[in-house]
Amino acid sequence: MSTPSHDRGLAPWAALESGSRGRRFPEPAAGYRGEFQRDRDRIIHSNAFRRLVYKTQVFVNHEGDLFRTRLTHSLEVAQIGRTVARVLQLSEPLTEAICLAHDLGHTPFGHAGQDALNACMRSFGGFEHNLQSLRVVDELEERYASFNGLNLCFETREGILKHCSVANARKLGEVGRRFLDRGQPGLEAQLANLADAIAYNNHDVDDGLRAGLIKVEELLEVALFRRHHEAVTAAYPGVQGRRVIHETIRRMIHEVVTDLIDETTRRIAEARPTTIDDVRAYPRPMVGFSPERSEEHQELKRFLRHRVYEHEHVVGMRAGAVRTLQELFEAFMRDPGLMPEAHQDVARSMEAARGEGGRARAVADYIAGMTDRYAFLEHARISGG
Ligand code: MG
Repeated sequence: MSTPSHDRGLAPWAALESGSRGRRFPEPAAGYRGEFQRDRDRIIHSNAFRRLVYKTQVFVNHEGDLFRTRLTHSLEVAQIGRTVARVLQLSEPLTEAICLAHDLGHTPFGHAGQDALNACMRSFGGFEHNLQSLRVVDELEERYASFNGLNLCFETREGILKHCSVANARKLGEVGRRFLDRGQPGLEAQLANLADAIAYNNHDVDDGLRAGLIKVEELLEVALFRRHHEAVTAAYPGVQGRRVIHETIRRMIHEVVTDLIDETTRRIAEARPTTIDDVRAYPRPMVGFSPERSEEHQELKRFLRHRVYEHEHVVGMRAGAVRTLQELFEAFMRDPGLMPEAHQDVARSMEAARGEGGRARAVADYIAGMTDRYAFLEHARISGG
Protein backbone atom coordinates (compact mmCIF):
# COMPACT_ATOMS: atom_id res chain seq x y z
CA MET A 1 0.00 0.00 0.00
CA SER A 2 2.99 2.34 0.04
CA THR A 3 6.50 2.58 -1.27
CA PRO A 4 8.68 0.10 0.59
CA SER A 5 11.16 2.85 1.45
CA HIS A 6 9.15 3.67 4.57
CA ASP A 7 10.14 0.23 5.90
CA ARG A 8 13.85 0.88 5.46
CA GLY A 9 15.93 0.05 8.53
CA LEU A 10 13.13 -1.80 10.33
CA ALA A 11 13.37 -5.30 11.75
CA PRO A 12 11.50 -7.90 9.65
CA TRP A 13 9.15 -8.56 12.62
CA ALA A 14 8.24 -4.88 12.95
CA ALA A 15 4.92 -3.58 11.58
CA LEU A 16 6.02 -3.01 8.00
CA GLU A 17 3.93 -0.74 5.82
CA SER A 18 4.42 -3.12 2.91
CA GLY A 19 2.63 -5.80 4.96
CA SER A 20 -0.06 -3.55 6.45
CA ARG A 21 -3.62 -4.86 6.59
CA GLY A 22 -4.61 -1.47 5.29
CA ARG A 23 -7.46 0.97 5.90
CA ARG A 24 -11.17 0.22 6.10
CA PHE A 25 -11.81 2.58 3.18
CA PRO A 26 -9.04 2.29 0.58
CA GLU A 27 -7.25 5.56 -0.17
CA PRO A 28 -4.50 6.51 -2.61
CA ALA A 29 -0.98 6.19 -1.18
CA ALA A 30 0.18 9.06 0.98
CA GLY A 31 3.09 9.94 -1.32
CA TYR A 32 6.06 11.39 0.50
CA ARG A 33 4.65 10.41 3.90
CA GLY A 34 4.44 6.85 5.11
CA GLU A 35 1.00 5.47 5.97
CA PHE A 36 1.72 5.34 9.71
CA GLN A 37 3.06 8.90 9.59
CA ARG A 38 -0.19 9.85 7.97
CA ASP A 39 -2.11 8.15 10.81
CA ARG A 40 -0.10 10.05 13.39
CA ASP A 41 -0.80 13.33 11.58
CA ARG A 42 -4.53 12.56 11.40
CA ILE A 43 -4.58 11.93 15.14
CA ILE A 44 -2.81 15.22 15.87
CA HIS A 45 -5.33 17.12 13.72
CA SER A 46 -8.35 15.49 15.41
CA ASN A 47 -10.73 17.31 17.76
CA ALA A 48 -10.40 14.56 20.35
CA PHE A 49 -6.63 15.09 20.52
CA ARG A 50 -6.95 18.82 21.21
CA ARG A 51 -9.49 18.15 23.95
CA LEU A 52 -6.91 16.09 25.87
CA VAL A 53 -5.34 19.32 27.07
CA TYR A 54 -8.38 19.98 29.28
CA LYS A 55 -8.92 16.43 30.49
CA THR A 56 -7.84 15.10 33.87
CA GLN A 57 -5.01 12.64 34.16
CA VAL A 58 -5.07 12.41 37.97
CA PHE A 59 -5.60 16.03 38.98
CA VAL A 60 -8.52 18.06 37.71
CA ASN A 61 -7.24 20.51 35.14
CA HIS A 62 -7.90 23.70 37.10
CA GLU A 63 -5.98 22.54 40.20
CA GLY A 64 -2.66 23.78 38.87
CA ASP A 65 -0.84 24.55 35.66
CA LEU A 66 2.04 22.15 36.20
CA PHE A 67 0.13 18.90 36.67
CA ARG A 68 -0.02 16.47 33.78
CA THR A 69 -3.13 16.57 31.70
CA ARG A 70 -4.10 13.79 29.29
CA LEU A 71 -2.31 15.72 26.56
CA THR A 72 1.04 16.09 28.29
CA HIS A 73 0.72 12.51 29.53
CA SER A 74 0.18 11.32 25.94
CA LEU A 75 3.21 13.30 24.74
CA GLU A 76 5.40 11.73 27.42
CA VAL A 77 4.12 8.27 26.46
CA ALA A 78 4.92 8.99 22.81
CA GLN A 79 8.41 10.25 23.66
CA ILE A 80 9.26 7.07 25.56
CA GLY A 81 7.66 4.89 22.87
CA ARG A 82 9.55 6.58 20.04
CA THR A 83 12.89 6.22 21.78
CA VAL A 84 12.45 2.50 22.35
CA ALA A 85 10.96 1.88 18.91
CA ARG A 86 14.01 3.38 17.27
CA VAL A 87 16.46 1.28 19.29
CA LEU A 88 14.49 -1.92 18.60
CA GLN A 89 14.09 -1.08 14.88
CA LEU A 90 10.31 -0.96 15.19
CA SER A 91 8.12 1.52 13.36
CA GLU A 92 8.58 4.84 15.11
CA PRO A 93 5.62 6.63 13.47
CA LEU A 94 3.26 3.74 14.24
CA THR A 95 4.40 3.63 17.86
CA GLU A 96 3.95 7.39 18.10
CA ALA A 97 0.49 7.24 16.52
CA ILE A 98 -0.70 4.59 18.98
CA CYS A 99 0.78 6.46 21.96
CA LEU A 100 -0.82 9.76 20.96
CA ALA A 101 -4.20 8.11 20.40
CA HIS A 102 -4.28 5.72 23.34
CA ASP A 103 -6.31 8.01 25.62
CA LEU A 104 -8.55 9.73 23.05
CA GLY A 105 -11.61 7.94 24.44
CA HIS A 106 -11.13 9.04 28.01
CA THR A 107 -14.03 10.81 29.67
CA PRO A 108 -13.56 14.01 31.64
CA PHE A 109 -12.35 13.50 35.26
CA GLY A 110 -10.03 10.56 34.61
CA HIS A 111 -10.85 7.03 35.74
CA ALA A 112 -13.59 8.28 38.07
CA GLY A 113 -15.37 9.68 35.03
CA GLN A 114 -15.01 6.44 33.11
CA ASP A 115 -16.38 4.41 36.05
CA ALA A 116 -19.32 6.79 36.43
CA LEU A 117 -20.21 6.66 32.75
CA ASN A 118 -19.80 2.89 32.74
CA ALA A 119 -22.29 2.65 35.62
CA CYS A 120 -24.77 4.91 33.75
CA MET A 121 -24.42 2.71 30.64
CA ARG A 122 -24.73 -0.60 32.50
CA SER A 123 -28.00 -1.64 30.84
CA PHE A 124 -26.81 -0.40 27.44
CA GLY A 125 -23.56 -2.34 26.93
CA GLY A 126 -21.38 -0.33 29.34
CA PHE A 127 -18.67 2.22 28.64
CA GLU A 128 -14.98 1.39 28.30
CA HIS A 129 -12.43 4.08 27.48
CA ASN A 130 -10.23 1.84 25.35
CA LEU A 131 -13.11 0.88 23.17
CA GLN A 132 -14.15 4.51 23.08
CA SER A 133 -10.68 5.50 21.81
CA LEU A 134 -11.25 3.16 18.87
CA ARG A 135 -14.78 4.51 18.43
CA VAL A 136 -13.39 8.05 18.24
CA VAL A 137 -10.97 7.21 15.43
CA ASP A 138 -13.37 4.81 13.65
CA GLU A 139 -16.68 6.66 13.95
CA LEU A 140 -16.87 9.92 15.84
CA GLU A 141 -14.32 12.25 14.27
CA GLU A 142 -15.89 14.27 11.45
CA ARG A 143 -13.00 15.41 9.28
CA TYR A 144 -13.45 13.66 5.95
CA ALA A 145 -16.07 14.10 3.30
CA SER A 146 -16.27 10.46 2.30
CA PHE A 147 -16.12 8.52 5.59
CA ASN A 148 -16.67 8.78 9.32
CA GLY A 149 -13.69 8.74 11.65
CA LEU A 150 -10.04 8.98 10.63
CA ASN A 151 -9.84 5.77 8.58
CA LEU A 152 -6.60 4.69 10.26
CA CYS A 153 -4.53 1.64 9.33
CA PHE A 154 -5.39 -1.70 10.92
CA GLU A 155 -2.11 -1.72 12.89
CA THR A 156 -2.87 1.64 14.50
CA ARG A 157 -6.41 0.55 15.42
CA GLU A 158 -5.07 -2.77 16.73
CA GLY A 159 -2.74 -0.83 19.02
CA ILE A 160 -5.39 1.59 20.25
CA LEU A 161 -7.65 -1.27 21.32
CA LYS A 162 -5.58 -2.34 24.30
CA HIS A 163 -8.28 -4.19 26.24
CA CYS A 164 -11.65 -5.42 25.21
CA SER A 165 -14.33 -7.70 26.65
CA VAL A 166 -15.13 -10.86 24.71
CA ALA A 167 -18.67 -9.61 24.10
CA ASN A 168 -17.38 -6.39 22.54
CA ALA A 169 -14.60 -8.19 20.64
CA ARG A 170 -17.22 -10.26 18.83
CA LYS A 171 -18.85 -7.10 17.48
CA LEU A 172 -15.58 -5.58 16.25
CA GLY A 173 -14.61 -7.99 13.49
CA GLU A 174 -10.95 -8.30 12.53
CA VAL A 175 -9.59 -5.79 15.06
CA GLY A 176 -11.31 -7.65 17.93
CA ARG A 177 -10.21 -11.11 16.87
CA ARG A 178 -7.09 -11.37 19.01
CA PHE A 179 -9.20 -11.07 22.18
CA LEU A 180 -11.08 -14.19 21.07
CA ASP A 181 -8.01 -16.09 19.84
CA ARG A 182 -5.79 -14.91 22.73
CA GLY A 183 -3.32 -13.51 20.24
CA GLN A 184 -0.94 -10.58 20.71
CA PRO A 185 -0.85 -7.26 18.89
CA GLY A 186 2.26 -6.14 17.00
CA LEU A 187 5.34 -5.04 18.93
CA GLU A 188 4.60 -1.33 18.42
CA ALA A 189 1.28 -1.81 20.23
CA GLN A 190 2.90 -3.82 23.01
CA LEU A 191 5.50 -1.10 23.37
CA ALA A 192 2.93 1.72 23.53
CA ASN A 193 1.21 -0.13 26.36
CA LEU A 194 4.37 -0.26 28.48
CA ALA A 195 5.44 3.27 27.54
CA ASP A 196 2.10 4.34 29.04
CA ALA A 197 2.91 2.55 32.31
CA ILE A 198 6.44 3.99 32.47
CA ALA A 199 5.13 7.49 31.83
CA TYR A 200 2.38 7.52 34.45
CA ASN A 201 4.34 5.70 37.13
CA ASN A 202 7.03 8.34 36.93
CA HIS A 203 5.03 11.49 36.31
CA ASP A 204 2.55 10.63 39.05
CA VAL A 205 5.45 10.56 41.52
CA ASP A 206 6.31 14.07 40.38
CA ASP A 207 2.69 15.28 40.44
CA GLY A 208 1.94 13.55 43.75
CA LEU A 209 4.89 15.31 45.39
CA ARG A 210 4.00 18.64 43.81
CA ALA A 211 0.42 18.35 45.06
CA GLY A 212 1.71 17.55 48.55
CA LEU A 213 -0.17 14.23 48.63
CA ILE A 214 3.02 12.26 49.27
CA LYS A 215 6.37 13.06 50.83
CA VAL A 216 9.88 12.05 49.78
CA GLU A 217 10.27 10.16 53.10
CA GLU A 218 7.27 7.99 52.20
CA LEU A 219 8.59 7.34 48.70
CA LEU A 220 11.79 5.97 50.21
CA GLU A 221 9.71 2.85 51.03
CA VAL A 222 9.70 2.13 47.30
CA ALA A 223 12.88 0.33 46.15
CA LEU A 224 13.10 1.91 42.70
CA PHE A 225 12.79 5.45 44.05
CA ARG A 226 15.02 4.81 47.08
CA ARG A 227 17.89 3.40 45.02
CA HIS A 228 18.05 6.38 42.69
CA HIS A 229 17.34 8.96 45.38
CA GLU A 230 20.26 7.62 47.42
CA ALA A 231 22.54 7.70 44.39
CA VAL A 232 21.57 11.30 43.60
CA THR A 233 22.00 12.60 47.16
CA ALA A 234 25.34 10.77 47.47
CA ALA A 235 26.66 12.17 44.16
CA TYR A 236 25.30 15.69 44.73
CA PRO A 237 25.14 16.33 48.49
CA GLY A 238 24.61 20.07 47.98
CA VAL A 239 21.61 19.75 45.68
CA GLN A 240 18.16 19.98 47.23
CA GLY A 241 14.48 20.34 46.62
CA ARG A 242 12.85 19.79 43.27
CA ARG A 243 16.15 19.26 41.51
CA VAL A 244 16.78 16.09 43.56
CA ILE A 245 13.29 14.82 42.68
CA HIS A 246 13.70 15.50 38.98
CA GLU A 247 17.17 13.97 38.85
CA THR A 248 15.83 10.89 40.68
CA ILE A 249 12.83 10.48 38.36
CA ARG A 250 15.01 11.00 35.30
CA ARG A 251 17.23 8.13 36.43
CA MET A 252 14.22 5.93 37.24
CA ILE A 253 12.87 6.39 33.72
CA HIS A 254 16.28 5.74 32.22
CA GLU A 255 16.68 2.51 34.18
CA VAL A 256 13.27 1.03 33.33
CA VAL A 257 13.52 2.07 29.68
CA THR A 258 16.97 0.46 29.42
CA ASP A 259 15.61 -2.67 31.10
CA LEU A 260 12.67 -2.74 28.70
CA ILE A 261 15.03 -2.56 25.70
CA ASP A 262 17.34 -5.28 27.06
CA GLU A 263 14.58 -7.68 28.11
CA THR A 264 12.64 -7.22 24.88
CA THR A 265 15.79 -7.83 22.83
CA ARG A 266 16.35 -11.02 24.81
CA ARG A 267 12.76 -12.23 24.33
CA ILE A 268 12.85 -11.52 20.59
CA ALA A 269 16.10 -13.49 20.30
CA GLU A 270 14.44 -16.36 22.18
CA ALA A 271 11.17 -16.31 20.19
CA ARG A 272 12.90 -15.77 16.83
CA PRO A 273 9.95 -14.24 14.98
CA THR A 274 10.38 -13.76 11.25
CA THR A 275 7.33 -11.56 10.64
CA ILE A 276 4.66 -9.65 12.58
CA ASP A 277 2.42 -12.71 12.24
CA ASP A 278 4.83 -14.67 14.45
CA VAL A 279 4.62 -11.84 16.98
CA ARG A 280 0.81 -11.96 16.88
CA ALA A 281 0.69 -15.74 17.25
CA TYR A 282 3.21 -15.90 20.11
CA PRO A 283 1.58 -16.95 23.39
CA ARG A 284 3.09 -14.05 25.39
CA PRO A 285 4.03 -10.44 24.80
CA MET A 286 7.60 -10.04 23.56
CA VAL A 287 7.88 -6.50 24.89
CA GLY A 288 8.40 -6.53 28.63
CA PHE A 289 10.48 -5.80 31.72
CA SER A 290 12.83 -8.24 33.42
CA PRO A 291 11.23 -9.97 36.45
CA GLU A 292 13.20 -7.77 38.89
CA ARG A 293 12.25 -4.45 37.27
CA SER A 294 8.71 -5.63 36.73
CA GLU A 295 8.36 -6.34 40.47
CA GLU A 296 9.78 -2.90 41.34
CA HIS A 297 7.48 -1.24 38.86
CA GLN A 298 4.51 -3.03 40.41
CA GLU A 299 5.63 -1.90 43.86
CA LEU A 300 5.69 1.71 42.70
CA LYS A 301 2.29 1.27 41.06
CA ARG A 302 0.80 -0.09 44.30
CA PHE A 303 2.31 2.81 46.25
CA LEU A 304 0.77 5.32 43.85
CA ARG A 305 -2.59 3.63 44.01
CA HIS A 306 -2.77 3.73 47.81
CA ARG A 307 -1.11 7.08 48.44
CA VAL A 308 -2.08 9.15 45.42
CA TYR A 309 -5.05 7.75 43.49
CA GLU A 310 -6.87 6.79 46.70
CA HIS A 311 -5.80 9.90 48.63
CA GLU A 312 -8.78 11.65 50.23
CA HIS A 313 -8.16 14.77 48.17
CA VAL A 314 -8.35 12.80 44.92
CA VAL A 315 -11.30 10.75 46.22
CA GLY A 316 -13.13 13.97 47.13
CA MET A 317 -12.61 15.31 43.62
CA ARG A 318 -13.88 12.01 42.31
CA ALA A 319 -17.17 12.19 44.23
CA GLY A 320 -18.00 15.55 42.66
CA ALA A 321 -17.03 14.31 39.22
CA VAL A 322 -19.17 11.20 39.51
CA ARG A 323 -22.19 13.27 40.53
CA THR A 324 -21.65 15.71 37.67
CA LEU A 325 -21.47 12.98 35.03
CA GLN A 326 -24.42 11.03 36.45
CA GLU A 327 -26.62 14.11 36.46
CA LEU A 328 -25.58 15.03 32.93
CA PHE A 329 -26.36 11.52 31.73
CA GLU A 330 -29.78 11.43 33.42
CA ALA A 331 -30.73 14.86 32.12
CA PHE A 332 -29.75 14.13 28.50
CA MET A 333 -31.43 10.72 28.58
CA ARG A 334 -34.63 12.30 29.89
CA ASP A 335 -34.52 15.09 27.37
CA PRO A 336 -32.05 14.76 24.46
CA GLY A 337 -33.26 18.24 23.44
CA LEU A 338 -30.96 19.61 26.15
CA MET A 339 -27.94 18.62 24.04
CA PRO A 340 -26.58 20.85 21.27
CA GLU A 341 -28.43 20.42 17.99
CA ALA A 342 -25.85 18.25 16.21
CA HIS A 343 -25.90 15.79 19.11
CA GLN A 344 -29.70 15.80 19.20
CA ASP A 345 -29.72 14.78 15.54
CA VAL A 346 -27.27 11.95 16.19
CA ALA A 347 -29.27 10.77 19.21
CA ARG A 348 -32.46 10.79 17.16
CA SER A 349 -31.02 8.71 14.33
CA MET A 350 -29.25 6.29 16.69
CA GLU A 351 -32.47 5.86 18.65
CA ALA A 352 -34.39 5.20 15.44
CA ALA A 353 -31.88 2.48 14.54
CA ARG A 354 -31.26 0.90 17.95
CA GLY A 355 -33.95 2.07 20.37
CA GLU A 356 -33.19 3.41 23.83
CA GLY A 357 -29.69 1.87 23.72
CA GLY A 358 -28.95 4.00 20.67
CA ARG A 359 -30.01 7.15 22.48
CA ALA A 360 -27.88 6.15 25.50
CA ARG A 361 -24.81 5.60 23.28
CA ALA A 362 -25.24 9.00 21.67
CA VAL A 363 -25.47 10.61 25.12
CA ALA A 364 -22.40 8.68 26.30
CA ASP A 365 -20.45 9.78 23.20
CA TYR A 366 -21.37 13.39 23.89
CA ILE A 367 -20.38 13.21 27.57
CA ALA A 368 -17.17 11.23 26.94
CA GLY A 369 -16.02 13.88 24.48
CA MET A 370 -16.33 16.67 27.06
CA THR A 371 -13.34 18.28 28.69
CA ASP A 372 -13.43 18.69 32.49
CA ARG A 373 -14.38 22.34 32.32
CA TYR A 374 -16.96 21.82 29.58
CA ALA A 375 -18.63 19.13 31.72
CA PHE A 376 -18.86 21.61 34.61
CA LEU A 377 -20.26 24.29 32.27
CA GLU A 378 -22.83 21.90 30.81
CA HIS A 379 -23.81 20.80 34.30
CA ALA A 380 -24.30 24.41 35.37
CA ARG A 381 -26.33 25.10 32.23
CA ILE A 382 -28.75 22.20 32.66
CA SER A 383 -29.12 22.82 36.39
CA GLY A 384 -29.90 26.47 35.69
CA GLY A 385 -26.79 27.44 37.69
MG1 MG B 1 -2.46 6.57 29.39
